[in-house]
Amino acid sequence: MTQAAAFTSLPPGSIIGIMGGGQLGRMLSLAASHLGLDCHIYCPHAGGPAARVSRYETVAEYEDLDAIAAFAQRCDVVTYEFENVPAQTAAKAAEYAPLAPGARALHVAQDRLVEKSFIQDEAGVDVVGFADITTPKQAALAGERFGYPNIIKTRRFGYDGKGQIKVERAKDMRAAFNSMNGAPLILEAFAPFTREVSIVAARGRDGTFAAYPLIENVHRNHILHTSTVPASDDDGRAAQIAQRIMDGLDYVGVMATEFFQMQDGSLLVNEIAPRVHNSGHLTQDAGCIDQFEQHIRAVAGWPLGSTAPKHGVVMTNLIGDDAASWEMLAAQPDMRLHLYGKIEMREGRKMGHVNMIGKAL
Ligand code: AMP
Repeated sequence: MTQAAAFTSLPPGSIIGIMGGGQLGRMLSLAASHLGLDCHIYCPHAGGPAARVSRYETVAEYEDLDAIAAFAQRCDVVTYEFENVPAQTAAKAAEYAPLAPGARALHVAQDRLVEKSFIQDEAGVDVVGFADITTPKQAALAGERFGYPNIIKTRRFGYDGKGQIKVERAKDMRAAFNSMNGAPLILEAFAPFTREVSIVAARGRDGTFAAYPLIENVHRNHILHTSTVPASDDDGRAAQIAQRIMDGLDYVGVMATEFFQMQDGSLLVNEIAPRVHNSGHLTQDAGCIDQFEQHIRAVAGWPLGSTAPKHGVVMTNLIGDDAASWEMLAAQPDMRLHLYGKIEMREGRKMGHVNMIGKAL
């Protein structure tokens, strides 16, 4: 039986389990509460951003499979807010409750080599050139093939620019390779993109698909700085690509697809995130159903909501002590302030975001 056939929509009062306790879990839980659904957060640290707005909390390690089983037994569906949920943990949860997005999406998104191979070979979508490199010799050969500069990345656990090095010249390759301390690696061609864009889209249990308009993203120090919707020159291609990938994964929930757009207009997929995504935060104040409610709707088997913004929005992340200006930000007209309730302000830490409301569409 397919997952769709086995699943009936969850009525209000049902419990959504969320693995992960950060700001994405917090905003998912707040959105679920609008629909009369309760959330149960599973996180190794007590009292985090998500747990503080949720009905239930389990504090245990992801490797504690007994705790995962007990948690999933109390949930009507289990989802996650980060892609590094260990495979065994996801499999254990799926024994006791439907898991959405499914284990395949996690498996693909956790490893840059598996991810790029799937996107290119199975979904038939263009990605930046890449090679599996397990020895300095292979790294040198891949460097010759893709030219310089290029980028070495750890296959797993990289985010916000962590676990990657730009290699400028062939003579720097060996040192760059060795500095990754034996972690499994890929080498990527450097994409001289003109801009970075993303598609945030949902796929329901019955295969229905709904994408928000193209979003343009600007990074600073490898961390997302601003996202703007609608991006200029959206000809619908990016959403079609996202749909092909999501169909290929038989995906249920919200997923983000990040692209490099090149000088000639072509789109190369950089990566996918099998979850709600920072570039989708602007949907909260766009006058349509936001990405958090959309994800909850999808995993709970509800009809998907409208993804058509009523006005433009620019989202800016509040990183580290940016959030100290909360009082000034709260006083701005047309600006919506979202703070994550993180107690400790640290450099580079995402503390909140603001959505500046723009022109009517
Ligand atoms: P990632 O962690 O792969 O999303 O990379 C973070 C950021 O680094 C991206 O959003 C780009 O700005 C930049 N970047 C990553 N990979 C490449 C690449 N192959 N070519 C050019 N820039 C890249």
